[in-house]
Amino acid sequence: MARVLILGAGISGHTAALVAKRKLGKHHEVVVVSPNTNYQWVPSNIWVGVGRMTTKQVIFPLAPVYKKQGIIFKQAKAISIHPEGDASKSKQFVKIQYVVGDMKGQEEKVEYDYLINATGPKLNFEAVEGSGPEFYSNSVCTYDHAAKTWSDLQKCFEKMEKGEKQRFLVGTGNGTATCQGAAFEYALNITFEIRRRKLEKFAEVIWISNEYELGDFGMGGAYVKDGGYITPTKIFTESIFKEYNVKWITRSAVQKIEPGIAYYENLEGEKKSIEFDFAMLLPGFAGVGLKAFDKNDEDITAKLFAPNGFMKVDADYTPKPFEEWKASDWPSTYQNPTYGNIYACGIAFAPPHPISKPMKSKNGTEITATAPRTGMPSGVMGKIVAQNIVEQILTGKEEHRHRASLAGMGAACVISAGYGFRGKAATMTVFPVAQDWEKYPKWGRNIKYTIGEVGRAGHWFKWAMHYLFIYKAKAKPFWWLIPE
Ligand SMILES: Cc1cc2nc3c(=O)[nH]c(=O)nc-3n(C[C@H](O)[C@H](O)[C@H](O)COP(=O)(O)OP(=O)(O)OC[C@H]3O[C@@H](n4cnc5c(N)ncnc54)[C@H](O)[C@@H]3O)c2cc1C
Repeated sequence: MARVLILGAGISGHTAALVAKRKLGKHHEVVVVSPNTNYQWVPSNIWVGVGRMTTKQVIFPLAPVYKKQGIIFKQAKAISIHPEGDASKSKQFVKIQYVVGDMKGQEEKVEYDYLINATGPKLNFEAVEGSGPEFYSNSVCTYDHAAKTWSDLQKCFEKMEKGEKQRFLVGTGNGTATCQGAAFEYALNITFEIRRRKLEKFAEVIWISNEYELGDFGMGGAYVKDGGYITPTKIFTESIFKEYNVKWITRSAVQKIEPGIAYYENLEGEKKSIEFDFAMLLPGFAGVGLKAFDKNDEDITAKLFAPNGFMKVDADYTPKPFEEWKASDWPSTYQNPTYGNIYACGIAFAPPHPISKPMKSKNGTEITATAPRTGMPSGVMGKIVAQNIVEQILTGKEEHRHRASLAGMGAACVISAGYGFRGKAATMTVFPVAQDWEKYPKWGRNIKYTIGEVGRAGHWFKWAMHYLFIYKAKAKPFWWLIPE
């Protein structure tokens, strides 16, 4: 009997767990270690953050789903990986610490034959003084953040209803943050809610981001087919912001936040500040801080993880200038190069480099939109990692028939702009996510499948996705027929 141990029950880890168990059946064990009680469908946190969905609508408890599927669930936090065992145990294991119940605070060594690290990001608010929901800016990264954000937003609406002007600052709260798509979506949803309440004359919505140009989205921008024309995402995004009356500041790194004021530096090296009444600024991401030790208890964290805390996989990490980046730098199996039975998928893997050209201000501050870490590729990675592990267990052969490189995989980003029947969405599909200039010398991507569109259809699709993906995550009948 083999044991597959999965760390993290987000989009990537949960997908991996369901796929692995379905294919392995009763003869092998699938164990999930995750600190959260609930699964959350993160993309719908946007709607929680504008009060259009409750937190209950975007979450469900994991334990009953895992029980029904025969997956062992340990509500705990992984602390360290011991890929060679230790002096007392010859088999490889992960040290975990329980976070709830009678076992709370207790540690346990969980052995594995195959390990999948799908621990997602640490939301690195500490990197920017005063940022985050515990201080002076908001976030929609988790459902409880989004609920607090909505509570703060409501107070602004109440003030506007009394005739008080309010300034909303939305974007990235760190020079190297990613997830611009989510912040963009939140900005559009705020403006939709302001218009719905007929409060436009009291509102000023300002976008701030580390992108070199609007529409960079951490993927170096894109050329999209829009109504038969090839349009750069810069123009596509600018025209949406114009329509929604959103002003913008780009090429900027937020460096400090105080109550009602954000301090930032731009690529020119100028230090500036902007006042706000409400700020939703997404943090930078880092790895969750797992450690690793060899059989002699020597710290080998740097062997398994990149300096940013994300796990090394089959990427080409050789430092090289932007001009020499290649599609083949991107990993496709997510296998750790040192320990072949360890994999990292979703946000947990270390990308070889950003996709957008790295930029530094005149003072040396990094101001670069880092590579997008979206849900669709995270789900696909979880699935192919599980499929490859299952095949190794069932055949005994170390093959990787299933591959999913960001330079060979598309992604759809549906950016809702409002809720209900009057909502619209900006839909963008890019193929591939990371440009491949050798294969697609003209546009860097396959222009046939790289499309941008604004309309109601995308919005309904996003709405349907919410229900469909929660259905799938609950492992309801025929869940596996729904794609990632
Ligand atoms: C507001 C918002 C909107 C978004 N909208 C979209 C969208 O519309 N479309 C899209 O494609 N993508 C979207 N994304 C991105 C998408 O949510 C992420 O790509 C996806 O959640 C990544 O999945 P993951 O499994 O890698 O990480 P996560 O979903 O973050 O899951 C990580 C898991 O690991 C667990 N964990 C953490 N530390 C430990 C530990 N020490 N031990 C064990 N477990 C641990 C966590 O509790 C969690 O269960 C959005 C993101 C945000 C923030």
